[in-house]
Amino acid sequence: MVNYKDLGLVNTREMFAKAIDGGYAIPAFNFNNMEQLQAIIKACAETKSPVILQVSSGARKYANQTLLRYMAEGAVEYAKELGWEHPQICLHLDHGDTFELCKSCVDFGFSSVMIDGSSLPYEENIALTKKVVEYAHQFDVTVEAELGVLAGVEDDVVAEESHYTKPEEVIDFATRTGCDSLAISIGTSHGAYKFKPEQCTRDPKTGKLVPPPLAFDVLEEVEKKLPGFPIVLHGSSSVPQEYVDIINTHGGNLPDAVGIPEDQLRKAAKSAVCKINIDSDSRLAFTAAVRV
Ligand SMILES: [Zn+2]
Repeated sequence: MVNYKDLGLVNTREMFAKAIDGGYAIPAFNFNNMEQLQAIIKACAETKSPVILQVSSGARKYANQTLLRYMAEGAVEYAKELGWEHPQICLHLDHGDTFELCKSCVDFGFSSVMIDGSSLPYEENIALTKKVVEYAHQFDVTVEAELGVLAGVEDDVVAEESHYTKPEEVIDFATRTGCDSLAISIGTSHGAYKFKPEQCTRDPKTGKLVPPPLAFDVLEEVEKKLPGFPIVLHGSSSVPQEYVDIINTHGGNLPDAVGIPEDQLRKAAKSAVCKINIDSDSRLAFTAAVRV
């Protein structure tokens, strides 16, 4: 058993409370290798911004859990070396799909886990989430749950269609599971192809797709039901077009890749959204740099 506190990590409780008070959101960056971790920690140390490092189950398998644990501990030490005296770094499991996986992460130094039962029937999602919460809270590890289905592909998580979160369910779900934060579905999606061209309009000047707005009405309803409760947005990369262009002019093939515009993310961050997940953007930046 490795407790995250011994690695210098923190859970999400305090960072979310401050984010809600301050009207901002914490970035949760997925990482798969040392270079991505270096970039994330450098940027966060420079701005002294709390950060969530997250790994999917696939990334965890790829990295090896022992190596990962020391990478997280190394990230804390590296941040200090860069002049960030008290780094606020959380190590989080993204899209845990079983109790066993979440337990194993809690036991190996993660400070936060997500249990994603969103594809299960409602009562089964509650039962699974509650079981994870009961285990994780014994070690002061925070738990993110999910209600509503996001479209797109992330590791082994594939969904053809999205279903917006039903605001009428969130009080019951949060109360009965005891989860610390809730991922909701309001039109974001996983991957570099968040929208089909037919969902978008096209900017006549640039020829680029302009995505449809997020369902802020659903977010507002959720916020009314659960005032001050931390809400999480998955699939929120902005898919910077400068990287897409670099990739495409250097032999890549990402036509019409489009993400969530930054002004929409900023608007969401001012509300109850206090964790914004970013994965595709780091992959695009990495790929663009390699291809140049
Ligand atoms: Zn996700």
